[in-house]
Parts: sequence; C-alpha cells; structure tokens
Amino acid sequence: LPTLIDRLVHNASSRPDQVALIDARSSVTYRELWRRAQGAARVLSSAGVGAGDRVLHIGRDETTVYELLYGVALLGAVLVPVNWRLSEPEVDYIIDHSQAKLLVSAEARPGVSGAAITMTCDDFSARVAGAGSADWTAFPATADTPVVQMYTSGTTGFPKGVVLAHRSFFAVRDLLDRSGLDWIDWRDGDRSLIALGSFHIGGMWWAAQGLNAGITNIILPAFTPDAALSAIRRQRVSTTCMAPAMILMLLAEPGVVPADFASLRKVVYGGAPIGAELLERALATMGCDFGQIYGLTETGNTAVCLPPAAHRRPGAPLAAAGYPYPGIELQVRDSRGNVVSGGESGEVFVRTPARMVEYFRNPEATAQTLVDGWVRTGDAGYLDDDGLLYLHDRVKDLIIVAGENVYPAEVEKVINTHPAVSDSAVVGVPDQGVGESVHAVVVATEGADLTARDLMRFLATRLAGFKLPATVEFTSEIPRNPAGKTLRRVVRERYWVGRD
Ligand code: AMP
Ligand code: MG
Repeated sequence: LPTLIDRLVHNASSRPDQVALIDARSSVTYRELWRRAQGAARVLSSAGVGAGDRVLHIGRDETTVYELLYGVALLGAVLVPVNWRLSEPEVDYIIDHSQAKLLVSAEARPGVSGAAITMTCDDFSARVAGAGSADWTAFPATADTPVVQMYTSGTTGFPKGVVLAHRSFFAVRDLLDRSGLDWIDWRDGDRSLIALGSFHIGGMWWAAQGLNAGITNIILPAFTPDAALSAIRRQRVSTTCMAPAMILMLLAEPGVVPADFASLRKVVYGGAPIGAELLERALATMGCDFGQIYGLTETGNTAVCLPPAAHRRPGAPLAAAGYPYPGIELQVRDSRGNVVSGGESGEVFVRTPARMVEYFRNPEATAQTLVDGWVRTGDAGYLDDDGLLYLHDRVKDLIIVAGENVYPAEVEKVINTHPAVSDSAVVGVPDQGVGESVHAVVVATEGADLTARDLMRFLATRLAGFKLPATVEFTSEIPRNPAGKTLRRVVRERYWVGRD
C-alpha cells in the first residue's frame, strides 16, 4: 500500500493545476499543496518535531489541517486533530496524554500545560507560506508508519488515542480496486465536501480519500446545515460524507427543495444508525446515490458498506448496515467468545487491514480491543443468511450479566408496559459478583404510587431471571438527544467513574 505522501507526489505531478482544497479563504492546487507540505515539514522540523512526535491541531477546519497532515507525514511524526468543542480540561488531558511536542491552535492558548510549544494556525500557515530551506530529513515512511492519532471517547473513562497508520487511509480503497466492486468510486471532476470534522475519523478519512484520488475537496469550517447547503449549491458539490443527524438537519432547513441537491451524485453516510424513514426521505429529496458505511475509529473507519445498488432494489434492506468489503471479515460472537451464526445476536468483531495500530500508551485497552488480529467493536448485531450485517439500535449498550447477553431495549420495552411507568432507561452497572448487572432508571406516571418492589414483581413473570434489573431507581426524566434517542452513556456514566 502507498503512503499519503506517495499519493500527493503522484497527484502533484500528474495533475499539478487541479485544485486540491478550497477553504473559506483560498484554494490550493495539488502542486501548491505539495510545496506547502514540504514547507510544513521545515516549519515543524525547526520547532523540534521529529519522527514519532505528536503535533496537535485545535481549530475549525481549514487548509492548515492538511498542511499539518502532510508535514507530519514527511517527518514520520503524528497529527492529533482535536475537537475544538472540547472543554479546557478535556483538551489538557489530550495535550498531556499525547505528550504533544507542538500545539497548533486557532486561538493563542496561554498557559497550556505540558512541554508543548504553541503556535496559532495563522502563524503556522504564514510560516509555511514563507518557509525557506531549513534542514529537515524525510522519514522513510511505509504504509505501517503512524500518521494520525484520534482521541475517541468510549462509553466510560478517559478518551483513548487511536493510532492510525497510512494503511488505514488506503486499505479499503485497495480492496475495492482489486475486487472490481467499486462501491466508493471517484470520478474526474468530482467535487467533494468535507462536512464532518477532521478530528473525527469520518472527516479525516473522507478528506484523505478525496485527496488520494486527486479530486477537488471543499472544506467546511464547521458543519451547520445552512453552511453545508450553500457549499453544495455554490461549489456544485458532487459527493460528500455525512452523519445521519447532519442529513436530518439539511432536510429540515426551511425552504429546502430537491433542486438544491442537483449537483450531488453520491452521499455516503454513517457513524450512527439511520432511521429507515429518514433514509427514505433523503433518497426522495436528494435524489442521488446513497451508500452507507459502518466502522469505528479503531477499524480505520469503514469495514462494512451498504452500496448504492442495495438502496435501490425493491425490498431494499435499508435497516442493514451493509456487507463487509471483499477481504474484510466479520464475526458475531456470544459472550463466551464463540462465533454464532444463523441470525443469532452477539458482539460484532471485524478483521480489517485498515485497523488501528494501537491505543497510544494504553496496552491494557489495546489488548482488550485487538484480539488475535480482530477488532472487538462493542457493537451488538447479527449477520443474516446473505452476509448482511444488522446492528441493534442499541449498539454498545449490551449488558453482560454473568456471561448472559441482555439487550437494554428489550428490558425497557417490558418495563414500559407497566401502567404506572411513563419512561425508562436500562443500563449495565459494575457488579462485583457478576461483572455487570442490570440497572433500571424509571420515570413513574404522574401521581402513580410505584415502588421498586411492585415493579420487580411485575417484571419477574415477564423476563428471564438474568434480564431482571438488580436495582431500580426512580427519576423525573430520561436524558435524550435531540433525535429522541436515550442517552444511555449519560445514564451509565456516573456508575462507571474511574473505571474503564
Ligand atoms: P467512532 O469510533 O467514534 O467513529 O464511532 C464508532 C461507532 O459508531 C460504532 O461502534 C457504532 O456504534 C457507530 N456506527 C458507526 N457507523 C454506523 C452505522 N452505519 N450504523 C450504526 N452505527 C454506526
Ligand atoms: Mg469511538
């Protein structure tokens, strides 16, 4: 597999005048991007950055991010794109944990902790533009050289730094090329919108696909539905990758009409479950091809895809996440680790050449997630007879009680049938004896006089013993996101403080 630099050099010589990146301020050709990559390597090198060092970026998306990406790649260093929405202590944790050598930040950040040198994004880009011929040595990178580190919050504990090598940005492309099943195709003249943040695997991966392919990429500083809509219209965007919530927001924009999406040829979506209703509405309104991707930061983004053709056929399996790419394997395992089949549910495991190298400075978590070359996803799902992966809408919420799988939604459904219950959320909480136990948070109907004992007696005849809540707690409201989905993470969090 090639490296990001190999592709940049190739594009800079094969299509030097093609526009590579457009941001709010300027546009840059592939020739100029390659020149800036070398300028960035000089600036980074004179700031003391060398092979293996971590360089953080915090700020809205702009060309600077990709100057940094190619600059670190030339030095064998690693870019850590940080979500600018994080709080000060969250950012400090990442600066500290990554042992950042340099911090490039939109705002000057006085008093940041650690040994990090800081530079503003504008200062960095100005230095890159004027970079002379300071000494630096290109690192002999291979596809296995780490280049990006993304912090991802698990369900509990501190965020983990997922280390990705160049291969994570090429492996799926390579499998597609070799199989001839071009589910994620690029065409000359494509204009791609980078709508997801570069600090999210979906954003960085999508940007890298477009840059590797040598097409024009339009950078959205930060997603808002009106910014995305006007970029699509004014830049004649032909393809983009979005999370379902972003599509929902686009369609909810006042006055939006199908003509707004006339330039679109294909929308790739993923990162969270999409409702069939939203998907059908999107297909009808946007009128272009849709392809779903499923994956994790840890799997180097997509391992599974529901290709456009599968969206169009009659009886299309719109509730599925998709098929693995040829060359990527999926397994569903029960809580004892046995592979199950025939539509039985369990935890999804993925074997993909795009997978992460490791969690940075966290061998315990790495050993838990990378098992004999397989990535343990934490997602619950099943494979049907055609090899289609279906995820339970309750991904990551599976509770394992003494080796038995409990799906929270199943328990909630039964609890909610009690006449004195108006809402509930079921989560796993740590338990000394069985590892995890079922905890129910319940909202009683107004005026009802419901006790935990009443509820338990009601459930005892309706649920298997291992699914019964060990503890019940009454509350006034279940935390939900704007789409109405129970925020189980929020419910669960306080029980898991200090654990992972
Ligand atoms: P992240 O590592 O932050 O990108 O999040 C990965 C998680 O997002 C996965 O473990 C899934 O729970 C969820 N996810 C990603 N893609 C999909 C999809 N197509 N459908 C449902 N859930 C998804
Ligand atoms: Mg994650």
